Amino acid sequence: MDFALSAEQRQIRDMVSEFVDEEVVPVADEIDHEDEFPQDLVDEMADLGLMGMPFPEEYGGAGLDYHSYAIGLEEISRGSGGLGTIVAAHISLAGNMLYEFGDESQKEEYLTPLAEGRDIGAFALSEAGAGSDVPAMETTAEKDGDEYVIDGGKLWISNGSVADTVTVFAKTDPEAGNKGISSFIVRPEEDDGFIVENTEEKLGDKGCPTAELRFDDLRIPEDRLLGAEGDGFVHALKTLNGGRITIAARGVGIARAAFENARDYANEREQFGQPIGEFQSIKHKLADMDTKIQAAKMLMHKAADKKIRGENYIKDAAQAKLYASEVSREVANEGIQIHGGYGYTKDFPAERFYRDAKLNEIYEGTSEVLRNTIGDQLLEE
Ligand SMILES: Cc1cc2nc3c(=O)[nH]c(=O)nc-3n(C[C@H](O)[C@H](O)[C@H](O)COP(=O)(O)OP(=O)(O)OC[C@H]3O[C@@H](n4cnc5c(N)ncnc54)[C@H](O)[C@@H]3O)c2cc1C
Repeated sequence: MDFALSAEQRQIRDMVSEFVDEEVVPVADEIDHEDEFPQDLVDEMADLGLMGMPFPEEYGGAGLDYHSYAIGLEEISRGSGGLGTIVAAHISLAGNMLYEFGDESQKEEYLTPLAEGRDIGAFALSEAGAGSDVPAMETTAEKDGDEYVIDGGKLWISNGSVADTVTVFAKTDPEAGNKGISSFIVRPEEDDGFIVENTEEKLGDKGCPTAELRFDDLRIPEDRLLGAEGDGFVHALKTLNGGRITIAARGVGIARAAFENARDYANEREQFGQPIGEFQSIKHKLADMDTKIQAAKMLMHKAADKKIRGENYIKDAAQAKLYASEVSREVANEGIQIHGGYGYTKDFPAERFYRDAKLNEIYEGTSEVLRNTIGDQLLEE
């Protein structure tokens, strides 16, 4: 067992970390206040190869292993939680759907521009009545000659209002439960009937637009079906498994930002004639915060390791995401506590970390649903 990063992994970490410190951290508060999609940063990340980190070079990606991708996403999320979601939805969800389940021509046509960062991707699974309960979805796709006609709507779609390629899940056989779900490539600019109804006003995760989408007689050619009819539910589950490792990375990144900020404050802020970090209660908080972060990181890398080896990593990805999400919220909470009253104001970023961290416990499987998944896997072992 080797806990040391490889030379390539260190290189990626250092490169992304430098980019984040120079370009993201200085504008993170602005992104949080303005809640605008940070196109300039996304363009810069595309130039650095960060919008296609894990995809092979032949499809425009950087050809990195999943550890390196997770490290990259951790660093990006350390700078901005919203930027972390933008990249995770683009790569782990939309891009990965095309990489894993697209045929050669679909990969060339739709994955390559995503991996090169020329296009933005989104993954449209959730609906108003179908969040955790995916098979309850009501969006349908009906075959009509050599086209599919998609009707329905999706809710909470990260990047949904800015995406060039959206992987959409719809029922091709509404009577067949989860076996009747199929997945499709939709191109908002080309396909009539793709409507952005709304973007949500959220607690945090600012900069990443979370969109409500409507499909009104949306016609797409039949060659936009991914895999075969009825494969969609399995596509969603497999994609979310990989995605959970990177949501763990987002949790670790936000927790690190909250920790580093609180540690610096504990060294600077004086009360009773000494830095507050000298008080044992504050020192112990910092100790617990960092210990939890290190443990979350190990779970993240363990899940990535199993994925790379081709082993079953369902439980590991769920544990990594569950633990890192709770740790990021707990660490951000302690970060506010260490700041005292200042932590409760917008003058310090401590409250932003808390708002950004909270989302981790909700998307790509709520913590409750992940505990079900972990429990089911344990009972099967
Ligand atoms: C900011 C944001 C971005 C998102 N991005 C995307 C995206 O890009 N693409 C996409 O498809 N979706 C996205 N989502 C949707 C997200 O995945 C869902 O919100 C999530 O799956 C929960 O679904 P729900 O909101 O309908 O809650 P519900 O499923 O209604 O859950 C409500 C509560 O009931 C609990 N619960 C539900 N079922 C069970 C059960 N079986 N056992 C125990 N407890 C249960 C939940 O844990 C939760 O506490 C996003 C959501 C948010 C908030």
